[in-house]
Amino acid sequence: MKAIVVHEFGAPEVLKLEEVPRPQPAAGQVLVRIHAAGVNPYDTYMRAGTYAVKPPLPYTPGSDGAGVIEAVGAGVKKVKPGDRVYTARTVSGAYAEYALALEDQVHSLPARIDFTQGAGVWVPYGTAYHALFHSAEAHASETVLVHGASGGVGTAALQIARGMGLMIFGTAGTSKGLELAKREGAHQVFDHSKPGYTDEIMKATGGRGVDIVLEMLANVNLSNDLKLLALNGRVIIIGNRGEITINPRDLMLRRASARGFTLWAITPAEEADIHAGLIAGLENGTLRPVVGKQLPLSEAARAHKEILEPGAAGKMVLIP
Ligand code: NAP
Repeated sequence: MKAIVVHEFGAPEVLKLEEVPRPQPAAGQVLVRIHAAGVNPYDTYMRAGTYAVKPPLPYTPGSDGAGVIEAVGAGVKKVKPGDRVYTARTVSGAYAEYALALEDQVHSLPARIDFTQGAGVWVPYGTAYHALFHSAEAHASETVLVHGASGGVGTAALQIARGMGLMIFGTAGTSKGLELAKREGAHQVFDHSKPGYTDEIMKATGGRGVDIVLEMLANVNLSNDLKLLALNGRVIIIGNRGEITINPRDLMLRRASARGFTLWAITPAEEADIHAGLIAGLENGTLRPVVGKQLPLSEAARAHKEILEPGAAGKMVLIP
């Protein structure tokens, strides 16, 4: 089968398309024929070798795939060959024609969701769900600012928050991204590339501030986020690419908090909750992953460059 293989950490060019043996599922494992694989920003940090999680080399990237069960190992009861699934992590990597996963790492993909959309479920929707329900403990009567609403996590957060009943502000840096954010659930949108946009957000709250910020670029925005919070407000730090100075007094005055977030640290109970919520939302049409750019698997290096550039518009996927 064809797979992307990384033999050394480095620039996007270390992503090599190679012919490798098709894996066989051991006991408790399944083999998934991957129809689409999601590209997440963390895939690029891991490939560069700068991420907290460093896989042993060589490795095939990708936790998020969607496809059909090809074969199952001994003892597998949850799925059978022919079932449509999305993956939430894999054993052998989703940037490939086939991927091994543990039985617990595959989840039923509702019929109304196609494979390209299914490749955008786990990290983006898992993150948005975990951030809103578990980290922020959001309530319907609250206001959330999705700071970076045009990308994978942002569009997922808009749909989930809209389903929960919150008042939603979303930001993007292009007119296409702003339109997308409006369409996917933001009540009001703001351009984060324009000076003064945080004043407009504060004005839109009537001076009260927002209850929750889901932050995609904390090294740029955290200081301003704290000033935008209402009493008891919380910033959930989802994305960060550097350092920033904050004034802790901005937190004290508001009895506010800035909370670190990582999807890697979820408990089994939280993960069960996340998949139950996501599958229900995908089934009933509340959650509709937005596929932006689709590239062939052979262009994984290009995908890794472009995912870090401005102008996000939904989820980027690779097609094996
Ligand atoms: P993505 O699809 O590449 O989208 C990136 C988003 O960031 C876009 O909406 C982009 O908007 C926005 N952005 C760019 N400049 C911004 C600014 N100055 N202020 C606010 N937003 C800005 O990425 P993603 O999958 O949504 O992930 C977003 C971030 O969260 C990434 O850094 C990722 O690594 C991180 N993340 C962390 C976890 C975790 O477990 N902690 C899980 C998932 C994701 P425009 O392109 O419209 O400017």
